[in-house]
Amino acid sequence: MPLSLKRIIKFAHKLDDAYCVTSDKGFRLRDYDPGDTGNLGREDKPRAKEALKLGVEHLAALQDMLYAQDRWAVLLIFQAMDAAGKDGAIKHVMSGVNPQGCQVASFKAPSSEDLDHDYLWRCMKHLPERGRIGIFNRSYYEEALVVRVHPELLGKQKLPEELVSKRIWDERFEDIRNFERYLSRNGVLIRKFFLHVGRSEQKRRFLERLDEPDKNWKFSEADARERGHWKDYMAAYEEMIRETATEYAPWYVVPANNKWFTRIVVAAAVIEALASLDLRYPKVDKRKLQELAAARKLLMSE
Ligand code: ATP
Ligand code: MG
Repeated sequence: MPLSLKRIIKFAHKLDDAYCVTSDKGFRLRDYDPGDTGNLGREDKPRAKEALKLGVEHLAALQDMLYAQDRWAVLLIFQAMDAAGKDGAIKHVMSGVNPQGCQVASFKAPSSEDLDHDYLWRCMKHLPERGRIGIFNRSYYEEALVVRVHPELLGKQKLPEELVSKRIWDERFEDIRNFERYLSRNGVLIRKFFLHVGRSEQKRRFLERLDEPDKNWKFSEADARERGHWKDYMAAYEEMIRETATEYAPWYVVPANNKWFTRIVVAAAVIEALASLDLRYPKVDKRKLQELAAARKLLMSE
């Protein structure tokens, strides 16, 4: 039975509730199972794929209005351990949207120019314009993840010594909360996704990258090394979510062991976010209507 749009939206709403974190109240990462597939089983996979396809069409229609209205901007932030499926989720969920209304920025290790500035600088340059969806594939959150797990990276940031204290992570969280509040007060709708993959599933995917020649390019030795710091990363992610999950910029803890499920949760969250904006096509005023009538007359007289 084909899924109706109404059911998709209802479904999206439910999924949205299950994985959205809006405050620090008792958040524990271990309460979230990377292998979770909601109340869907493997046998529902084809239906889930169909739902994703419909969801993506719905998303494209919303994005068209976002673009036409030209008031709100949407910022989607993706964070995850390697091989959690960030790239695939971004690709699938945004597959139907008009590329003109969408911009993706990937943040890798900072360049020397980046390091000559405050850490938000390079991200600010890529904030989406009004009417657009901006995607951050990694972000300023790396500053409290990889940099926290490898504090020696702080040394490269050329910060004045007296500013680097034990409080630096709390200060970063505070600054990030304030930055996101500032953005939200300026019409930037923020949604953040932590793709939560399990350690053994990551190993399986790494081995797949080693075994399949077409996937070899995706493997990097550094990724395997970072895996050794798994516990530290999970602790850093947990604290990051506790400290920066807010009503105006919630985190989604998305189960990532099953890619088909990851994608529908992300699509559902983006649909919910756009639907919350009450988007409308701009109404044309009387003068504009007259202009249109005159144009029609001119064309018809040719
Ligand atoms: P892929 O799926 O292609 O591996 P990726 O997002 O992991 O995608 P990489 O080319 O591996 O891309 O580069 C990302 C690396 O850059 C990560 O290891 C990340 O921790 C690191 N990085 C990102 N931001 C910072 C930062 N502010 N400081 C230090 N390292 C950073
Ligand atoms: Mg990588």
